[in-house]
This record gives sequence, structure tokens and C-alpha cells, in this order.
Amino acid sequence: MESNNIYQNISRPKPSLNRIPGKKVWMGVLLLLILISATILYINSDSPVMLMVNGEPAAVVAGKDQVNSTVDRIKGELEKQYSITLNNMSTKIEYDKDFVGDNRKPVDDQQLYMLIKDRLDWQVDSWAISIKGESKLFLSSKEDAQKALDEIKKYYLPKGENVEMTVEETGFAEDVAVEQAKCNFKEIKTSDAALVAMVRGLDTIVTHTVKNGDSLWTIAHANDMTVAGLREINPQLKSDFLKPGQTLNLVKSEPLLTIVSTVTTKVEEKIAFKTVYESDTSLWRGQQTVKQPGVAGAREVTYRLTKKNDQEVARETLSETIIKEPVTQIVRNGAKVMVASRGDGGSGILSWPIRGRLTSMYGKRGREFHTGLDIDGVTGDPVYAAEAGVVLDAAWAGNLGRCITIDHGKGLSTRYAHLSAFNVSIGQTVKRGDLIGKVGNTGRSTGSHLHFEVRVNGNHRNPLGYLD
Ligand SMILES: [Zn+2]
Repeated sequence: MESNNIYQNISRPKPSLNRIPGKKVWMGVLLLLILISATILYINSDSPVMLMVNGEPAAVVAGKDQVNSTVDRIKGELEKQYSITLNNMSTKIEYDKDFVGDNRKPVDDQQLYMLIKDRLDWQVDSWAISIKGESKLFLSSKEDAQKALDEIKKYYLPKGENVEMTVEETGFAEDVAVEQAKCNFKEIKTSDAALVAMVRGLDTIVTHTVKNGDSLWTIAHANDMTVAGLREINPQLKSDFLKPGQTLNLVKSEPLLTIVSTVTTKVEEKIAFKTVYESDTSLWRGQQTVKQPGVAGAREVTYRLTKKNDQEVARETLSETIIKEPVTQIVRNGAKVMVASRGDGGSGILSWPIRGRLTSMYGKRGREFHTGLDIDGVTGDPVYAAEAGVVLDAAWAGNLGRCITIDHGKGLSTRYAHLSAFNVSIGQTVKRGDLIGKVGNTGRSTGSHLHFEVRVNGNHRNPLGYLD
């Protein structure tokens, strides 16, 4: 940097002055020397220089004084901001008098401040939280470091107003120490920021090798990242197309510490009620009534929990007190069946055309009379013949939609309504249990179900009295 110094070039003696000079010449030499000195003085005092920060040109400045006062200003502000004393500036500050450039006008103080503010670094004494022998987090005082460690011990404990809890023990699974260390002032964290860093972990970049079927989205999703975040750390990606074997950078962060805690906690818990079923011959088969509704009970339990961070790794019941016994629910299932009034020696009992929840019973329904039994089903479910017979009808029947009627002989017939499809045709002979059609939602119907009717000599009967 000093080799091309203007000052040296100008002060180098001129060989032409070596011959024996006359008086006039002496006067000339004197005048020349005065001029040269003046020029040197001028250059030394006011000539702008290039400020070099860590070897890089940073700004044309008026001189060292301007830089020193600006550095002092920045230092003062940082000391206030971080409540620290900055001693050793680790940034290299140099001056280049021989810089080449058109703009030789020095920057003003504010411009200089803006230009170098973020480029100055200081090493400071700090207290490090060291995990497994490695300084991970730097804080300005031992108290701050200790506070962060005390806080993280409590971080994963059960919280809430109704939680009655005694902490038996908390500790770290890793070796943890607080020790003096030097760090860059920018690495200093407050105890709150150190707590967050310990819980969240510090981001590290890991390499992922693209497998068959990977896409930016699946990789991002599997690693708690966004596609935009993935692109940001992989500027080499030119398109969305990934080739198996290609490598990508991923950001991983894992908690820095594992907190192992043992707590005893007393909680109130519900006790579920049991349900028992009784048979009731006063109800038709398929009908159900709740004789006694169940009521949940309550108990107070004391547990000893062992946790690793937020994961429960062990649970031991220390004591249990019943506060309220649960009440058993009693459900009565209908058991009454009616033999079909046919004199043909058949079984007399119809089989269920589909199995499902009964959504509407036979009988009075508001102002209308519901002439069949509605059984819940999904469109497309198979519907089976309730008994052997001949298909009397398989056609559209107004409100009943697609409807099949089967004649079982001796005056007994059954109807299957709101079907989505027919699997039989008129005149066909069917056996009991044959597939005849599919559940649907055709005609006047508010959802897919089977409307099933039983008729004896043309009169509607309650199907529940005939089903097995
Ligand atoms: Zn119906």
C-alpha cells in the first residue's frame, strides 16, 4: 500500500540538480523546495484517504480523526444497547492514501456512521452456557446464564390453574456448565433469548439426498420448513424438478438440552360409566330404550410423572380416591317377535333386508302414517329379499322412488323403496336372502335409507313384528 506513495515520489531528489549550480539556479532550487514542502504539508493535512475495513475499501474519509470519533460514537451506542464494555475491536482499520478513484470527496460523519456501523466487531468477556463441553450460548453475566438455566428447568413442567404439583427433581441429561468465555459482542444473548435458543435449538444446516418420489413440498413438509425457506437455502435450485441422488440443504434444529423432571401431580379425572343390556319382551326386536342413563363418576388421582422435555416417559399412580361413583347405563333391547300369519308352513319370520340403525318406525308420524320401517344405509349397499317369493314389481313408484315388491304367497308381500338400482326384474323368482337391489335416495327421501314395508292381504303391518 505504501509503495506508490505520492509523498515519496515527490521528495525523491532530481538527478539534474547534481551539476554545479549558479546563483540564479540556487534561488530557483530554493523556490522549488518551498513549493515542494508546501505541497507535502497540503497533502498531509487535508488529502482524503480511503478507509479500509478488514482489507476492504469502506469509504473516502477526511482522516483518522473522523474515523476515530465515529468509531467511538458507535462503540458508545453498542455499550449502552448491550450493557457491556467493549475493549478489543477485532475489526482491522487501515488507511490507503494512494487509492485510485474519481470521487475524492470525503463522506460526512453521518454517512461514515452508516457505512461502518455494522462492520465493526468487538471481542468481549462473557459467560457461556457450555453443553457437553462446548460453549453454546453467551450471556453478559453469570447471573443471566444461571437464570436461563433455572427457567428452562421449569419450562416443561405441567402448567394450568387446576394443576396441583410438586417438583421432586429436575436436571439435565447432558453435562451443563456456566463458564467464562470470550465471544463476539453480537453473540451475547439475554437470558430470555438464551431460553428460547435452548428450547428451539440453534439452526444447523444438514444435507438431504433426494429419493425417488421426493418433491420440494414433501421435503419441506417432512422437515418443518416451507418451500420458500427451502429455496432460500438452496440458491442452486433452478427448477422444481428434483433428481434422485441430488443433494439439498435442510435446516434442522433440536433442543440444546434435555430436561429430566420428576413431579407428583394431583388431578381430577372422569370415570366412564358401564353399559349393560337387558332383554325386553314388551319391545319389538330392533327397538331399544334406555332404562337408566349412565352418569360418569369422578376420582382424584396422584401421579408421579417422569418427563424428558415435553415427553412423558413414565407415569406411576401413587394414590386414588373416588369422589363420585359412576352410574351404570341400562339399555333394554326388544325381544318380541311375531310370526307372520301365513298358513304355508314357512318359517313365518322375515329376514332383515339390510342391517342398520332404525331411523323411523312404523306408525303415526305427525299427521301422516308411516307405512314402513326406515333402516339407515349407504347408497349402493346391497338389499336382500326378506323371504322367498316372486318379484311382483321392480319400477318407479312415485314418492317411493325405485321400488321392488315381492309376493311371498298366502297374502304376504314386502316392499323395498328409495332404491338406487334393481338387481331383479318383474316375474323373477327369488330365494330368501337373494340380492335384489341397492340402497338409494330416490323418490321422496331426505337421505339414503331403505323404506321397508310388510303387507298382509294388502294391509300394512309393522315390519318389526315380522322380522327375525
Ligand atoms: Zn319410510
